[in-house]
Amino acid sequence: MQNVQLDELHWLLAIVQSIDVGVVVFDREYRVEVWNTFMENRSGLMPSEVHQRSFFDVFPEVNEEWFRHKVESVATLGTPGFTIWEQRPYLVHFKSYQPITGQEEFMYQNTTLLPLRSVNSKVGHICLIIYDVTSVAVNRRQLQSVNEQLQHLSSTDRLTQLYNRGHWEESLQHEYARHRRYGTNASLVMFDIDHFKRINDTYGHQAGDRVIQHVADMVREHIRDTDIAGRYGGEEFAVLLPDTNSSGAAHFAERLRVAIEALTVRHDAHEIRFTISLGVADLSGGCDGYKALIECADAALYSSKRNGRNQMTLHEPS
Ligand code: GH3
Ligand code: MG
Ligand code: MG
Repeated sequence: MQNVQLDELHWLLAIVQSIDVGVVVFDREYRVEVWNTFMENRSGLMPSEVHQRSFFDVFPEVNEEWFRHKVESVATLGTPGFTIWEQRPYLVHFKSYQPITGQEEFMYQNTTLLPLRSVNSKVGHICLIIYDVTSVAVNRRQLQSVNEQLQHLSSTDRLTQLYNRGHWEESLQHEYARHRRYGTNASLVMFDIDHFKRINDTYGHQAGDRVIQHVADMVREHIRDTDIAGRYGGEEFAVLLPDTNSSGAAHFAERLRVAIEALTVRHDAHEIRFTISLGVADLSGGCDGYKALIECADAALYSSKRNGRNQMTLHEPS
């Protein structure tokens, strides 16, 4: 009977040694007693080098106050504690050995702290188990970054890096819903480059593209962080100004008009000058609904064109 139990003890020891997770046992004074092969390989320290040494001496990177607090509650409550990589990428700093994850310099870890009871049932020791979750973490991170890139690509216009029409219209719908819920105002400025066809015809399509990019830069320079600017069509732009009435929006529109009138775009030794026509509407003047707001601003823009271009028109409630 005793031989069977001894056998089992030997098996368990062999398993703990060869298992691909870190196992450390320390006493209530944080003196290391068990150190398995995983720990030896990853730290480069032999069991004899760490035996009876303080855990905090072996791992100076561990925040002592935090870790003591954690361990004390495991010991007092007699229930396991955990750390997860999403909250704390690692407990102890080990180099990452995973060849597929060449770019990560450390091992991501989940850890478990187990209370170990003595025969007198008091928790006299704590077992720390360290799981290497680097590949999971790296895959998740890569997936997240690809998703962010996709999100960016699907919502931005390639030429100008402004929002594309689809995303911009979604933002407008959101803003309109906010207006319905909280009664906030919002304004819309739509504008279009004057005689843009002539720019293309005179200087070429590439010059036309440069002009569109410069207009987008001007828009970025003039808007506030909360404003939402989009490329609505070929040479037509739309800027949504939340919490702004039409007279505030008209000031913005006029500053933009003057800035673009003063702009010179240089392309292939040509100096290109041009102007824009703008239309402004807000949600207070009978333009109820996000589609109606676009129609109102568009109608005002059309008035600017009809009245001679290079001007801003405020939508008049009829
Ligand atoms: P208006 O003052 O009435 O706005 O006249 P316009 O010439 O600007 O207007 P029109 O709608 O007749 O012409 C717009 C031109 O813009 C036609 C189209 O070929 C050109 N265009 C649309 N998208 C792009 C683009 O991405 N790059 C370039 N270079 N041209 C574009
Ligand atoms: Mg035009
Ligand atoms: Mg146009």
